[in-house]
Amino acid sequence: MSTAVPGGDIIGVADGKLMVPDRPLIPFIEGDGIGPDIWAATRAVVDRAVEVAYGGRRGIAWLEVLAGEKAYARTGSWLPDETLEAFATYKVGIKGPLTTPVGGGIRSLNVTLRQTLDLYACVRPVRYLRGVPSPMRRPEAVDMVIFRENTEDVYAGLEWAAGSPEARALAEFVSERLGKAVDPEAALGLKPMTARASRRLIARALDYALAHGRRSVTLMHKGNIMKFTEGAFRDWGYALAREQYAGRVAAEADLGGAEPAPGQVVLKDRIADNLFQQVLLYPEQYDVIATPNLNGDYLSDALAAQVGGLGMAPGANLSDTVAVFEATHGTAPKYAGQDVANPGSLILSAVMMLEHLGWNEAASLVFSALERTVAAGEVTRDLARQLPGSRELGTAAFARAVMARMTGE
Ligand code: NAP
Repeated sequence: MSTAVPGGDIIGVADGKLMVPDRPLIPFIEGDGIGPDIWAATRAVVDRAVEVAYGGRRGIAWLEVLAGEKAYARTGSWLPDETLEAFATYKVGIKGPLTTPVGGGIRSLNVTLRQTLDLYACVRPVRYLRGVPSPMRRPEAVDMVIFRENTEDVYAGLEWAAGSPEARALAEFVSERLGKAVDPEAALGLKPMTARASRRLIARALDYALAHGRRSVTLMHKGNIMKFTEGAFRDWGYALAREQYAGRVAAEADLGGAEPAPGQVVLKDRIADNLFQQVLLYPEQYDVIATPNLNGDYLSDALAAQVGGLGMAPGANLSDTVAVFEATHGTAPKYAGQDVANPGSLILSAVMMLEHLGWNEAASLVFSALERTVAAGEVTRDLARQLPGSRELGTAAFARAVMARMTGE
C-alpha cells in the first residue's frame, strides 16, 4: 500500500530527543480536495530547500501512507491501521487536509488520528508575513502561538442523536440520578476534560514560552459558564504553574501590575469571548495561548484571518514522541484539482517540520523565499483578489517562484 523510498532510515529517539539521520523516512498523506495540489507544491519546495541547504548530504525519503478518499478507494478503509502505525514508527509526518462530512457519515479522520496517536497538543503559530493582504490596520502586531488541547472536550465524539435510545437513557439518568432536568427529546453530548490532559497541554505551552523567550501564556476558557470543565482548565493551569514552574512563571494577578522578573513568563487567563475581542484590539498583549479543544479551533481560524487568511496558517499535532504537521485549513473542495489553491499553509507547516528535525537552514530558506515571493506580489488567487497590482500564480507556479528565490534565480 505504501511506496517506500529506498535508502531512508528511521528517526530514533534517545532521552526524549529526536535522532535524525541524513535520509529520514517521513510518511505523508496527500489529502483530499486541494490536498494533492498543495502537497505536490510543498514536497517540491521542501526537497529543493534541503538540496540547496545541504548540497545532497541530506534528503527526505518520503513514504506515502493512505487516508481519506484515496485510502477508501484503494483499501475500503478510510484510515488503514498501517497509516497509524507508520506515524508511530517514523515519528515525524506531514498530511494534507482530509474530508469530514457534516452530520452523519464517517467520524473525523483528523480527530481519530489525533486521538489514536495521542497527539495531544495542536500547535499553531500565527504571525504576519510581509506583503500578505490583511483586514487589520497593524497585522504585524499579531505574533501568537496557539496550543490547543487535541484529545478531549466536545471533540471526544460522545454525542447522541435526538430521540435515540442512548440520548433518552442519558436524559433519564441525568434527570433521575443527578436531579437535573433534561428534555428526553434533546440531542446530547458530553464534554470530558481531565486535569491530566489539561496540565500536559498547558505544560507544553509554558515550556515553549520559556524556551523561546515569550512574554506570556494566556489560558483561554469559558469558565464563567462551564465552571467544572473550562473553569477547571484555568484552575489546573495556575496550580501547575505554582507546583512546577515556581520562579519561572508568575501569575498576572500575583504581579499586581508590576513587571515580571527578567526571563519570567506571565501566566494569565481570559474568558473566550473577551479574548476574541482582545486579540483584535490589543494583539501585542497576547503571545502564547493555551486552550481547550473547541475554543482553539475557533481561535485558530479567527487569528489566521487577522494575518491574511487560512492560506497561510500552519500547524503541528504533537504527542511526547510523534509529530504530524498539517495546515489549519480543510480540503476547500471547490478548488480541488484546479491548480489555484494556496499551498502556503502546508509549506509553512513543512517549515515547522524542518525546524522540528533540527534542519534550521532548510527551514529558513523556505520561509525567507516564501516571504519574498509574497512580498513581490506573486501570489495565489486567494491573496491576489485582495492585493491590487499583484500577479496571480497557480499552485504549481507559486511553488516554482518560491524555489527560484532560494537560489536567487
Ligand atoms: P476549508 O476547506 O478550510 O475552506 C474554507 C474556505 O477557506 C475555502 O472555501 C476558501 O475560501 C478558503 N481556503 C481554505 N484553504 C485554502 C487554500 N489553501 N487556498 C485558498 N483558499 C483556501 O473549510 P470547509 O469548507 O469548512 O471544510 C471543507 C472540508 O475540509 C470539510 O470536510 C472539513 O471537515 C475538512 N477540514 C479538514 C481539516 C483537516 O484536514 N485538518 C481542517 C478543517 C476542515 P474562499 O471560499 O473564500 O475562496
